[in-house]
Amino acid sequence: MAHGISDPENKKEHFDSATELNEKLDLLSQWIKESQHFIVFTGAGISTSTGIPDFRSGMDTVLKTGPGEWELEDHKAKRLKSDAVIDDMQTAIPSIAHMALVALQNQGILKCVISQNCDGLHLRSGLNPTGVAELHGNMNLETCSKCEAKYLRDFDTVGTRTHYTGRRCDKLNCRGRLKDSIIDFGEDLPQDELDKAFYHAEQADLCLVLGNFSSDMFLLKKKTILGSSLTVTPASDIPKRVAKRKQNLAIGNLQRTPLHKAAALNIHAFSDAITQGIMERLNIPIPTWIVRRRVHISCQHNSRNQNKKQIILEGRDPNNPEIPFTLFESIQIIVDQKVIKEIAHQPFTFDLVDYDQQPITIRLNFFGHYNEIPFDLTYSNLTSIPNDEQFYLFYNPMMGQWRKTTNKDDLPV
Ligand SMILES: [Zn+2]
Repeated sequence: MAHGISDPENKKEHFDSATELNEKLDLLSQWIKESQHFIVFTGAGISTSTGIPDFRSGMDTVLKTGPGEWELEDHKAKRLKSDAVIDDMQTAIPSIAHMALVALQNQGILKCVISQNCDGLHLRSGLNPTGVAELHGNMNLETCSKCEAKYLRDFDTVGTRTHYTGRRCDKLNCRGRLKDSIIDFGEDLPQDELDKAFYHAEQADLCLVLGNFSSDMFLLKKKTILGSSLTVTPASDIPKRVAKRKQNLAIGNLQRTPLHKAAALNIHAFSDAITQGIMERLNIPIPTWIVRRRVHISCQHNSRNQNKKQIILEGRDPNNPEIPFTLFESIQIIVDQKVIKEIAHQPFTFDLVDYDQQPITIRLNFFGHYNEIPFDLTYSNLTSIPNDEQFYLFYNPMMGQWRKTTNKDDLPV
């Protein structure tokens, strides 16, 4: 059973003075500059500034999100209305710390982010998933129980206790039952993510831990690096491994952690303040977060009727086109200002005939977590719809506008 921190001493929150923090950030930034293989290990604390509560903060925490979930359970207490907690995690906007990690990955400095968070914010922030190991799953990701195909969804996929979501694999030769990817207490962590995490822990010459992490909640099975024997070890063994290899371990957290003594540097400050301080010293700007979507449109001729075409619209992971990404709540086909067809579920496949050469609008309706407005694809007639096109849509929630581009890196809106 999950529980909060038992020792009151370890529940206390500490804050470095401005001078201490400056000195520590100077040192950490120097280590980052000199590093060859920098990794970051994140816990719930990196997401609290987005309005998602953590698990282990005490009843008298300074966090605006209020006490941790397990701490509330231990005290049989209810969350206060005044706690700055968002109702729907899908609406969370990646924090300064999340976006700083994106910039560090883009610069080639940060080799891997290993996370115990399942809020999906690391992928949503724009990190390339090849450099992310999500040890406890991702609430936007489901996988096929038969062929292990991955499916990203722009909605919460978390299913029942059995993890089945009620959806099935798209592959016609599989049709396996899909499961959410969340790891519950007592369950094994995903082997591929663990292998990635331990590979990077073996390579790292610097590991920065951001946010409190659970050291004893999730016991995980891993194959030892050299042998094939199964051992059981907590996830905190990943940063601990870096310290054991006599490489630099830095921990940024308000509370003391079980790795306090093993760490070469303990910084008591918020994750956003730590990352902002690092980026200023490295002189790397922190990018503004925008919604990034990758859309694939294909159009197949009907062999028996030249005036008929089948249009298929799909979302894909912006970083990995192999992974389907459910992006649309519905799609409408509009001719002469009238909705002539509407589909509100996958697959978004339309049989269209030529409407007397009239313009055709394909309206993409999104889930609207960030109040995204619909996006219209307008074609002068049926034949001008491309046979096969992939493009990106970028949406800046502050501007309220979509922008279509074929260049993945053409980010600023
Ligand atoms: Zn499958």
